[in-house]
Amino acid sequence: MNKLDLDNLQRKNIKNLTPYSSARHEFDGNASIFLDANENSLGSPLGDVFNRYPDPFQWEVKRKLCEIKPVNPEQIFIGNGSDECIDMFFRAFCEPRIDNVIVCPPTYGMFEVSGDINDVEVRKVTLTEDFQLDLPAVTEAIDENTKLIMLCSPNNPTGNLLAVESIQTLLENFSGIVVVDEAYIDFSTKPSWLLELNNYPNLVVLQTLSKAWGLASLRIGFACASPEIITVINKVKPPYNIGSAVQSFVLNVLNQEEKVLQMVQHFMIAREILSLQLSALPFVQKVFPSEANFILIRVTDADSIYHYLISRGIVVRNRSSIPGCENCLRITIGSQDENQVLITTLIKYEKTTATN
Ligand SMILES: *Cc1c(COP(=O)(O)O)cnc(C)c1O
Repeated sequence: MNKLDLDNLQRKNIKNLTPYSSARHEFDGNASIFLDANENSLGSPLGDVFNRYPDPFQWEVKRKLCEIKPVNPEQIFIGNGSDECIDMFFRAFCEPRIDNVIVCPPTYGMFEVSGDINDVEVRKVTLTEDFQLDLPAVTEAIDENTKLIMLCSPNNPTGNLLAVESIQTLLENFSGIVVVDEAYIDFSTKPSWLLELNNYPNLVVLQTLSKAWGLASLRIGFACASPEIITVINKVKPPYNIGSAVQSFVLNVLNQEEKVLQMVQHFMIAREILSLQLSALPFVQKVFPSEANFILIRVTDADSIYHYLISRGIVVRNRSSIPGCENCLRITIGSQDENQVLITTLIKYEKTTATN
């Protein structure tokens, strides 16, 4: 196991940073009168539930997460959605205009946007035709200023897992950080990279409560990595990035994993049914295999089908402008009724075009 040179990997200003020390961080013992944080001691119009600042490190939520995920609390960073986690890694590790990161499109758009916002060069190495990593090209793109390789598995928008061996090769040979975004891992039949955290000091795994857990509006994503990496990004984060209302909702939900597993079961079954139904449509040229809660299909005329569906009140994601996804639509798997309506509507499209 090669050691990660975190001292040189993080930006110099972050390495030298004295992080903001909040009142709640400096004192977290027992007291009865709190006059240290300029809060409103009278309460608020909502009562006295929300007048105090929340736990800046969300320890209770992290301990609960550890009952579900194979990690320790010190290996977790909780962000305002995974999008905040992604941004943290750019801000902590990438020197603007000097460092670079590698992304492998077609993939999640936020990787590139985060790079652009942080003025960090994003080197794009396209996936192969079967949406796998092009290892020789990735290796070629890496130089001494490459800090992060951003991967997504199961990948959005293609739906497939990246081959374990190629991620392994990168983890073993790249001296920077490999981020594996697992937003859709709950829908996959394969194990999470979380199980490998202790084997690779340069591995970061991103997960979210926005998809399988059904909490997109609460904005909770988390990054899991070595405690050393987590310490670095904790220095960069806004002190109170997760509000206490959200923390208490999350604690409540994390106690109900069975309900989530049941919903996941629905999506996995519906994925098979929908894939079969879609591939039976004559204008569907390819249904890409999916390990996620969406299906990518290649059709004869994506724009036409996309607008037809909108005219019937159904919105899917038109991905046809993305290189590698020409004429592709990404369809989120819905409820049983929604999927049924989608299919009957698509069958009507077939008839409309046939009679033209
Ligand atoms: C949906 C999605 C996320 C989730 O982002 P949140 O900010 O946690 O809602 C992260 N990564 C990928 C690839 C996604 O598709």
